[in-house]
Amino acid sequence: MSEFTFIVKRKRVFSPSDYVAGVLGGDRSMLARAITLVESQRPEHQAIAEEVVAECLKRSGKSIRVGITGAPGVGKSTFIEAFGLSLIEAGRRVAVLAIDPTSEKSRGSILGDKTRMEKLAQSDQAFIRPSPSSGALGGAAPKTREAMLLCEAAGFDAIIIETVGVGQSEIAVHSMTDFFLLLMLAGAGDELQGIKRGIMEMADLIAITKADGTNVQKAKLAQQEYAQALRLFPPNPNGWSPRSLTCSALTGEGVREIRDLIFDFEKQMTENGWLARKREAQAAHWLRQTLERELLSRFYSSEAVKAKLPLLEKAVRSGEISPFRAAKELLNLLP
Ligand code: GDP
Repeated sequence: MSEFTFIVKRKRVFSPSDYVAGVLGGDRSMLARAITLVESQRPEHQAIAEEVVAECLKRSGKSIRVGITGAPGVGKSTFIEAFGLSLIEAGRRVAVLAIDPTSEKSRGSILGDKTRMEKLAQSDQAFIRPSPSSGALGGAAPKTREAMLLCEAAGFDAIIIETVGVGQSEIAVHSMTDFFLLLMLAGAGDELQGIKRGIMEMADLIAITKADGTNVQKAKLAQQEYAQALRLFPPNPNGWSPRSLTCSALTGEGVREIRDLIFDFEKQMTENGWLARKREAQAAHWLRQTLERELLSRFYSSEAVKAKLPLLEKAVRSGEISPFRAAKELLNLLP
């Protein structure tokens, strides 16, 4: 970046076309600013963000989207750093995003500070975005999806979306990615790791982490057990058989294998047309999700509803009116 652009940028208020040009030009600082707009709650920012996303959408989609989940401490950050570097080695540009289900009220982020991925962060082929702190998952997930589209428009062709094993956030990540990688520890038990059967069923690959030192045998055993468990699930309509592998982010063992497996998946699913169909279905899903959220928000912010809801709630509590009837009355207040 020349000194001139730097000075101009500091002084200017950017227009939507500045953001679009910056993002499409692969300028990481403009990409970061555009994502900040997307994450902003302010209506004037949202209006610009909408325009920027609409423009960038046309140039998005050319990446492999990988969702990664696992319990806290399983080694997600360490793995993502090693995996990201191996993707770069293979000529990819890597963006790392996160959906952090930690509520604003609790102790802070479970996913922690992404500056831990120091080596990856230093690469000019990588873009690491700390998770948005917008609180409720329902609000954070669509923003991560839009951030992903912007990263793709900026030329990042491997997107990693990280989340933590607590349920809702996995479903959100699964519904915006192509490949779902579940990281597990050997010998800790599914229950202890908070991994529900439903999450295992979504996995395209289960990787047993920290397969190094004295842990290698235990990891191999766990890998075999998971391989067996995966075989019991109904076959995938896309023809992919979910695998289980071991890896160590410390020694690097197994990391390239995982990368290459994902490349195979990308190739197969592109060739059989499944990737395109899945993304179509995902886009439709996000339309519905957005509609539902928007309708709820309009409903609860309506003045008429705000005035009537407490009265009707009281009447429902005392049994004067049925919840069904009260709901109907409230819904009738909307134009
Ligand atoms: P996260 O909470 O899932 O993001 O986990 P971290 O990446 O922060 O790792 C948790 C701990 O496990 C850290 O102390 C890491 O150094 C350690 N760790 C991560 N990956 C490996 C690995 O491959 N082998 C070993 N032995 N330790 C690891």
